[in-house]
Amino acid sequence: MNLNIAEPPVLSAQQLKKIQKLKKEKDAIILAHNYQRPEVQDAADVVGDSFALAKISREVKEKNIIFCGVRFMAESAKILAPEKRVVHPDPESLCTLAAMLDPEDLQKYKNKYPEAEVAAYVNTTAEIKAMVDICVTSSNAVKAIRTLSAPLVIFVPDENLGYYIKKKLPEKEIILYPGYCRSHINITVEDLRKLKKEHPKAVALAHPECVPEVQAEVDEIFSTSGMVNYVLNSEKEEFIIGTEKELIYRIKKELWKRGIKGKKLYGFPRAVCPNMKKITLKKLIKSLETLKPEIKLNEELLKKARRPLDRMVKAGRGR
Ligand code: 13P
Repeated sequence: MNLNIAEPPVLSAQQLKKIQKLKKEKDAIILAHNYQRPEVQDAADVVGDSFALAKISREVKEKNIIFCGVRFMAESAKILAPEKRVVHPDPESLCTLAAMLDPEDLQKYKNKYPEAEVAAYVNTTAEIKAMVDICVTSSNAVKAIRTLSAPLVIFVPDENLGYYIKKKLPEKEIILYPGYCRSHINITVEDLRKLKKEHPKAVALAHPECVPEVQAEVDEIFSTSGMVNYVLNSEKEEFIIGTEKELIYRIKKELWKRGIKGKKLYGFPRAVCPNMKKITLKKLIKSLETLKPEIKLNEELLKKARRPLDRMVKAGRGR
């Protein structure tokens, strides 16, 4: 399966210099998710998973955060660091999973199970976050939900991550919502078996947004940064990367920075998040120049959504 992943770095020293100059002039930092285009990853000060990016938003010293990821990620940065200007280079870069759940749907679940505590995947809108007890990322979902006191938990909106959590937390009764990530359901068990057959020595890794059949046939399940760390620290040489394809560029870049040669990475060409790709280098540079478009949320929403996100960060990183 041909993935066509670029060799790092893709930006020239001259392009990087121009971006550094702009960042300094504008007192800005660029944060980018692991699924961003290679050139956007190269331009960023920090590339990470949704947990790392949420956590670092509260710690940055710059006045302006240029957030390269889907909208809920930029919103989370604004909620956690309301005094900063958070700029999202393309307002149309939305997460289809987050769009699967609206407040009315969630209210129905809350009415049906009034004794339950509610945990939301961070892949939700700010309005949903304002209605829940805790947020979680793929890295710390099990750890974070374990901190809840109620034996009954409603988990929204990703059913596949919910399936993973349920297996790890048999002591809780967990009600799931039927949401899913369009990119991760494109990773099929048939494609996984084919890759495993072609590369019998490869360690198979998958994101918990993959369907249960895929989760059952891989060696390890990790968040995106969990996969990066696993590959960097493993003695093994070949890896199947069961998540959005651009994570392979991120891993290649980390290997390149460390001068590690010879590791082979195999992925799934259909696992592409078109929304993540809406942020281009051109839009990023325009945002740096203009400090627009800015994420704006009303005060009440900011306040209500902060508590579950604070609890998420406090729960700490997991896998
Ligand atoms: P991470 O938590 O691994 O960054 O994953 C986020 C995501 O949206 C996966 O599709």
